[in-house]
Amino acid sequence: MELFELPAWKLGKMMESGEVTAVEVVESVLSRIEEREEILHCYNEVYGEEALQEAEEIDKRRKGGEKLPPFAGIPVAVKDNICVKGKDITCSSKILKGFISPYDATVIRKIKSQKMIIIGRTNMDEFAMGSSTENSAYGVTRNPLDTSKVPGGSSGGSAAAVASGEAIVALGSDTGGSIRQPAAFCGVVGFKPTYGLVSRYGLIAFASSLDQIGPITKDVRDAAAMLEIIAGKDNYDSTSLPVKVPHYSTMLEDDISEIRVGIMEEYNAEGVSEEVIEGIEEVIDIFRTMRVNVKSVSFPHMEYALPCYYIIAPAEASSNLARYDGVQYGISEETVEDIRELYRKVRTSGFGKEVKRRIMMGTYVLSSGYYDAFYLKAQKVRTLIRHDFERAFKDVDVIIGPTSPTVAFGIGERTADPISMYLSDIFTIPANLAGISAISIPLFKDGNLPVGIHIVGKALGEIDILKVSYKLEQELKERGLYHGI
Ligand code: GLN
Repeated sequence: MELFELPAWKLGKMMESGEVTAVEVVESVLSRIEEREEILHCYNEVYGEEALQEAEEIDKRRKGGEKLPPFAGIPVAVKDNICVKGKDITCSSKILKGFISPYDATVIRKIKSQKMIIIGRTNMDEFAMGSSTENSAYGVTRNPLDTSKVPGGSSGGSAAAVASGEAIVALGSDTGGSIRQPAAFCGVVGFKPTYGLVSRYGLIAFASSLDQIGPITKDVRDAAAMLEIIAGKDNYDSTSLPVKVPHYSTMLEDDISEIRVGIMEEYNAEGVSEEVIEGIEEVIDIFRTMRVNVKSVSFPHMEYALPCYYIIAPAEASSNLARYDGVQYGISEETVEDIRELYRKVRTSGFGKEVKRRIMMGTYVLSSGYYDAFYLKAQKVRTLIRHDFERAFKDVDVIIGPTSPTVAFGIGERTADPISMYLSDIFTIPANLAGISAISIPLFKDGNLPVGIHIVGKALGEIDILKVSYKLEQELKERGLYHGI
């Protein structure tokens, strides 16, 4: 096995015992990048030389007998909407071309304090709007499992990097599914934490009441460890929760017989593909043979989640993206007569089609005369969706369903029809609207593209999700339904 194929927790142990060096780990990942990047395009930029220098420094300190954190020397890929001081940050948009992050995001400060090595910034849908990474101003990313397919989105670069071994772990952001759906498409693990568990300070805002940063990893153990690193109260984010972060990774092997597992009744709704339904049924079967009680739970307002999201998210986006004015942020234009012309020129050439569509939708639903009919109504529907979950969580502790209605689709297949693209997130969006936690873990069968198994938990229900998904992962391994990279 090559080093780039291993999860972070294993590599961390191997580095600590002296079996391998950080330089060897970084070199392995860089050689993989060399080999695959031209086709896959996971990255907008790779920091090869710096990463090697940092690795040398870590090896020196380890050799000198210094005890370093468990993930010291692990290469981590960072989505191009999370600020890393002194580095470019583009959100895969032309409008931010050449913009340099003036500070570190809180999550970056945390991973740097663990001495993890940032290997590059990953490609994404522009401003995180999309489900395929085709809405990038810098070219599409391809799915490493089948390069004719999309990697999902918007954190497609991060998911593809982890799946291909171009990174060991990655950070993504999830507003309506952007960590979980690409993780599902690429066959890796993606975790969206409870809203407020991870600081958003230094994450470029898309829809602030929905956005969360989370890890994309090769297995559940790495997801737990990464979550421990990045979570926690932060005074720089007023929505961050004042909670003590549990030691998730030490609880993974705990007994799960007390955890009540629910199955989302709507998993075989119209539009859900046969292989996805089979995947969920396989999982139900696994739980039954594990003698875990599974119970069906229903979501009466599920069908309203997508339209509700496509009012709230664009509304918030239209406000957040107003700052790209060509004066304080964004590319500038020298040959303009007045400020209006500046705005028009900068925003016309700087934003892509999908971002413009969202800004227009958002501006429309917030405009006077329409506000009550759309935005206010959507907020009420959001409450109903939250209530659906509250009701379900009286009977169960976690809810299982598909991450996405289909496996990875073809490049170009949905670009002409935004609604078909939006439908890809129908199962992930409700968790963002309710602000609760959720994971996607992959199920591989018969050499086909993986099916993402979505496990949703309560607000701050990370522990239950991680325990259940860890057990499920073990079972999948045993049945030959799981493969690493
Ligand atoms: N695909 C959804 C959208 O386009 C979700 C994106 C996300 O989670 N950032 O808005």
